[in-house]
Amino acid sequence: MPSYDYRCNSCQRRVVLTYKTYRDYDAATPVCPRCQSTDLTRIIGRVAVAKSDASRMDKLADEGAMDDLADADPATLGRYMRQMGEEVGEDLGDEFHEVVNRLERGESPEDIESSMPNLGADAGGMVDDSGGLMGDDVM
Ligand SMILES: [Zn+2]
Repeated sequence: MPSYDYRCNSCQRRVVLTYKTYRDYDAATPVCPRCQSTDLTRIIGRVAVAKSDASRMDKLADEGAMDDLADADPATLGRYMRQMGEEVGEDLGDEFHEVVNRLERGESPEDIESSMPNLGADAGGMVDDSGGLMGDDVM
């Protein structure tokens, strides 16, 4: 099932919403489970990577860097994703590079996702439950 990270702008908590299908996600208005606010910002900073690297990504997340990205502009997000890719030390695929390049040009994550329909479109390609930016070719 697809799930998405959000930052609640009301209570400032990070929340994860899970949907049965991507169709549900498209149709749904995200609601904070804690305060019922609908003022949520999608967090896309955490990119799904191969399972073997999940612990390293968790380490990065534990350092708090991910949380800072909730309010980051696309260029900052792109730079951070590029750093993560280098940290992983593997080729993360053409889609990853395209997303990074477009972020660095200042395109919003939403625009990139909507123009790249294959991104995260297949739940089978998601290697963790955090984002779905990456597709099958990550593995
Ligand atoms: Zn809230």
